Amino acid sequence: MIVDIDDAPCPRCDGTAADHLGGRDVQCCYCGHLVTLKRPPVLPKVEARPEAWRFPSGRFAGLTLEEAAAAPNGVRYLEHMAENDARVRDFLQLTRQTVSG
Ligand SMILES: [Zn+2]
Repeated sequence: MIVDIDDAPCPRCDGTAADHLGGRDVQCCYCGHLVTLKRPPVLPKVEARPEAWRFPSGRFAGLTLEEAAAAPNGVRYLEHMAENDARVRDFLQLTRQTVSG
């Protein structure tokens, strides 16, 4: 994971980006110099992936669209559902584009 070391640049090359090796240890991205910081680097926030939509009820309750499509006859059911559900329709369209393109 790359971290900013603006407040404690690499002593060899003055680089301000380093690969976090764990704890207070980092390796300069520019020259490879190993640096032990006075305090652990501030880790960039990893953006959590939004939770996938899941079927609230019915045959596929608790499954995502991907999981439902992988179920036996899943795609056939989804095609049937797509007539009344824009979310399922969009998913199937996307899947077909992915397969064909
Ligand atoms: Zn360096």
